[in-house]
Amino acid sequence: VSGMNLVIDGGYSITNPAFTMAIKNFMLQGKVAIVTGGASGIGESTVRLFTKHGAKVVIADIQDERGTSLCQELLSQLGNDVIYVHCDVTIDFDVQNVVDAAVSKYGKLDIMFNNAGISGDTDNTILGSDIENFKRVFDVNVLGMFLGAKHAARVMIPEKSGVILFTASLASVVAGDTSHAYAMSKHAVVGLTKNLCVELGKYGIRVNCISPYCVATPLLADAIGVRMEVVEELACASATLKGPIPTVEDMAEAALYLGSNEGKYVSGVNLVIDGGYSITNPAFT
Ligand code: NAD
Repeated sequence: VSGMNLVIDGGYSITNPAFTMAIKNFMLQGKVAIVTGGASGIGESTVRLFTKHGAKVVIADIQDERGTSLCQELLSQLGNDVIYVHCDVTIDFDVQNVVDAAVSKYGKLDIMFNNAGISGDTDNTILGSDIENFKRVFDVNVLGMFLGAKHAARVMIPEKSGVILFTASLASVVAGDTSHAYAMSKHAVVGLTKNLCVELGKYGIRVNCISPYCVATPLLADAIGVRMEVVEELACASATLKGPIPTVEDMAEAALYLGSNEGKYVSGVNLVIDGGYSITNPAFT
């Protein structure tokens, strides 16, 4: 061997960059997303996954400290692809503002993930149900979802594209585990999903919701009155899947699929993520 330049780089210098992009499989490259309730739980996990897949993300929440610190953590890894905007989803102006912030910072809005929600009081009897609690739950879980969809549609319709996602709940499918207000609010989310799917399909906008089983988040810990460490140890009651309850990452993966072009023919769906719990014949268990 003579006159050779023996490059010892594991193939780095001859690799086509397009190939490495494909391997990394950035499912949301170039997309802009808003995640409401993005400072905690399912929303936070979705923010992390969406940014990992190349999306520019607006974190919208009322927990400013948590939202800002998540934003700073991600900024230090990603440059300027994520911002935090205070947004109470029950206030029309706040929701309008967060959508406008996404468009003015990033030029468009591709995915609106309306995820913020509360469990409210957990008394699940009709006589124990409190009107103030009912109104609070409906404000966040129904009006909040409606406003998110409305302002997203305002900017998506002229573009003739977009994805609107909601977080409903297993309470939209099976009964008895939650307050009437919570169950009703989550059924309303499914109703909104279907109605919007029909209205917005002609503009190329897809509308879906996910319905999580129990997931270890502060919301669930509050709802059942235990600490987070306890809720993380809960076992899945599904007869078909054994092991711990699903994780926030399991929910984020579903939002990723529905938000990306991989789910481009999926609309009007309530994606129940419960390991088969809700369709199991009780006689079988
Ligand atoms: P979480 O408490 O971890 O997160 C909810 C987030 O929403 C919080 O960051 C909170 O600050 C925010 N939020 C509450 N009210 C708001 C408002 N008015 N405006 C803006 N943000 C607000 O809980 P999570 O479990 O991640 O909940 C996310 C969604 O998942 C909710 O819609 C919830 O109903 C639904 N869900 C959760 C479970 C579960 O077991 N954790 C099961 C089914 C459905």
